Amino acid sequence: MLDRSRNLLAVLAPALLRLAGLAVFATVVGLASNLQAGLWVAVLGLAILLLIHLRSAIVLAAWLEQPRLEDVPDGWGVWADVFARLYRTHRATAQNEHRLLENEERFRRTISALPEGIVLIDATLQIDWCNPVAEQHLGVSLRADQGLRITNLVRDPEFVGYITSAHFDSPLIFQPIARPGLALEVRVVEFEAARSILITRDITQRERVDAVRRDFIANVSHELRTPLTVVNGFLETLIDAQSENGTTRQHHLQLMHEQAQRMHRLVEDLLTLSRLESRETPVADEVVDVRQLVREVADEARALSLGRHQIDVDLTPGFVRGSREELRSAFGNIVSNAVRYTPDGGIISLAWREDASGGRFEVSDTGLGVAPDHIPRLTERFYRVDKSRSRETGGTGLGLAIVKHVLLRHGGHLDVQSEIGRGSTFSAVLPVERLLASNDVAVATA
Ligand code: ADP
Repeated sequence: MLDRSRNLLAVLAPALLRLAGLAVFATVVGLASNLQAGLWVAVLGLAILLLIHLRSAIVLAAWLEQPRLEDVPDGWGVWADVFARLYRTHRATAQNEHRLLENEERFRRTISALPEGIVLIDATLQIDWCNPVAEQHLGVSLRADQGLRITNLVRDPEFVGYITSAHFDSPLIFQPIARPGLALEVRVVEFEAARSILITRDITQRERVDAVRRDFIANVSHELRTPLTVVNGFLETLIDAQSENGTTRQHHLQLMHEQAQRMHRLVEDLLTLSRLESRETPVADEVVDVRQLVREVADEARALSLGRHQIDVDLTPGFVRGSREELRSAFGNIVSNAVRYTPDGGIISLAWREDASGGRFEVSDTGLGVAPDHIPRLTERFYRVDKSRSRETGGTGLGLAIVKHVLLRHGGHLDVQSEIGRGSTFSAVLPVERLLASNDVAVATA
């Protein structure tokens, strides 16, 4: 209060001083000449002061029409102070406005950088604002659709039902018709009486993994059900049929044994796959003698073939760095497939080749062959071209999935060349960094 009075006094003091000066001057003139002259001086002085104030008031009124910081007028006397104050107030307001705009811009930039889609909607579901991720997820455009109802733009019934239901305890998961292949999770957060934030998240990958897991469980259950049914059936027969003679019993036990072995193989392969897939175990760094490995898998192939095929082996020497056990399992799977998918009398050739690009274990057969559209899917778990042949010959449907993982862990890949009815060549390809020259082997093993 005191400050204010002091300020007022400071503003008015020069004006009062000027009036007092005019009064003194007019009195002096009045005394020196006559009263009339003194009055004229006073009137004239007051008129001049009035004109100055009038002019300043007009200038102020004109500026107020379009107030701009750079156009604040200059004034004289008390007006100089008024205009200076106006300038300061206006500058402070402009600075505040600028700061607010900057804050808003920073806020928008932050929200725009979020991996989630964000849409601000009002009580009538009109879009106030949205970030680019939301534009992408929902197929809307901030520029074109601001102020439009979101339910007129995203018309999927489950989305419209969710957003108009006002029950937002759990999120909505849906696949927008306009964006095939995309799975979205949508949440709504009400933050003011009339406003809500809609958050969208791309969960395509999570849904895909869930689907693979569901398929996998279904496949394993299916694989185990058949042998279990057989074993159960025979066990019941054995329990019921006291009179069953020794030969029949022997036959049934034999069949049960086969089914138990099938389940055993399946479980073994599943465990191998899960070990390979868990990234915690890095690939072992052993010196693997490839010629020795090829010799071993060739022996296995002969045991499996029981003389039904001609098996040629090219025993070229070679050494690689990696896991002996894993490579043995991969090579063994490729070779056993060649025996199982080649009719009797066919030829199977095994060879190890090296060149500047790396090494490859090639297994060629004159078997059934695989049609081109099946080839990219052969390494999927439980993918089989010929289901009955695979099962009849003891296949688990996991062999090539194991091969793929082993080779991936060694930086290599599986190469398949095949012609239906003529045969196939399955090659386990290893990168050149895995190859060891024979003089390096001595150093590495030392
Ligand atoms: P499986 O236990 O069924 O053999 P794999 O994963 O080892 O499972 O192989 C997947 C499928 O690839 C097989 O079911 C078979 O249809 C096909 N396949 C694999 N190797 C050969 C081959 N040498 N010749 C023809 N088809 C093959």
